Amino acid sequence: MPLFPLPTVLHRLERLDVGSNCDLWIKRDDLTGFALGGNKGRKLQYLAHEIKASGCDVVVSCGQVQSNFLRQLGATCAVLEVECVAVCMNRPYQDLERKPGKVIGSHGGNLALDEWTGLQRKIIPDGTWDDLDEAMETEANRLRNHGKQVMVIPLGGSSAQGVHAFYEAGREIANQAEFEFDFIITASSSGSTQVGLTHYFRGSKTKIIGIAVDPEPEVLDDMVTLSETYVEQGGIGPALLPEDLDFRLDWVGPGYGSPSEEGNQAIALLAKREGILLDPVYTGKAFAALLDLARSGEISGRILFWHTGGYPTLFAY
Ligand SMILES: *Cc1c(COP(=O)(O)O)cnc(C)c1O
Repeated sequence: MPLFPLPTVLHRLERLDVGSNCDLWIKRDDLTGFALGGNKGRKLQYLAHEIKASGCDVVVSCGQVQSNFLRQLGATCAVLEVECVAVCMNRPYQDLERKPGKVIGSHGGNLALDEWTGLQRKIIPDGTWDDLDEAMETEANRLRNHGKQVMVIPLGGSSAQGVHAFYEAGREIANQAEFEFDFIITASSSGSTQVGLTHYFRGSKTKIIGIAVDPEPEVLDDMVTLSETYVEQGGIGPALLPEDLDFRLDWVGPGYGSPSEEGNQAIALLAKREGILLDPVYTGKAFAALLDLARSGEISGRILFWHTGGYPTLFAY
């Protein structure tokens, strides 16, 4: 179900110099334009169809309070005239030792937009990501007991359809560019962006590198599972193996939702050289990784930065 026009813009970064062996390009999924843009819009075009087809009257999902997915899901449900309830935590974590310290606030940013889309948030005390998932199911059951027809959408909208959205985004790039990229760098969190692009470019010269924003090596296993689900539900197989996914944990900084020094420097650099803004949770860290990898010579040639959006959190710190 179209929610915004595609393709998004692809252009070269003319002013930012990352070394003579690098030709730097950017894919502007920050400009998808639906409820302030971002990569989640691509998944939501598929989810919107499913929401409509399910005939549900309420969608239930979950996430960190500043989730960009929830912002765009709220807008999707609004245009479909379906209620949307999001169970949120300020600081969800995998285990207590890795709980992030100072994170982006529980005011402003994405939260400021709920009023306009009607997204209903239930903010619950911090716990693990599994606790968050469980609380979402509990909320869904509570609404079912009230006679509502409920559709549950997993964290970040990562599903077979989410992967397919990015398989198609890979095709979009292949049609847009008159050459093949050597590397595509993207922030990676719930994994559908990286898994979808990796599926599309498998066997080509283009290498996808996903930059972690959570200090959780388990994300790699989740991505493999996501790939298996994608193939089971009709995606082009075989499913990806862990070694097919280049997933880097070196630029997480203090943790999910907690800005890093290098990330902030990358944001300032791109803002000053190109007038393009990044966000402190995802794209700033991913762009910091791109700069390090290019400067060290680990990546060179035609490099594409996939700008996945996330602007609202710039206003939440
Ligand atoms: C969700 C998100 C990502 C990560 O995408 P996944 O498909 O969940 O891995 C990257 N950047 C931004 C701004 C996001 O909101």
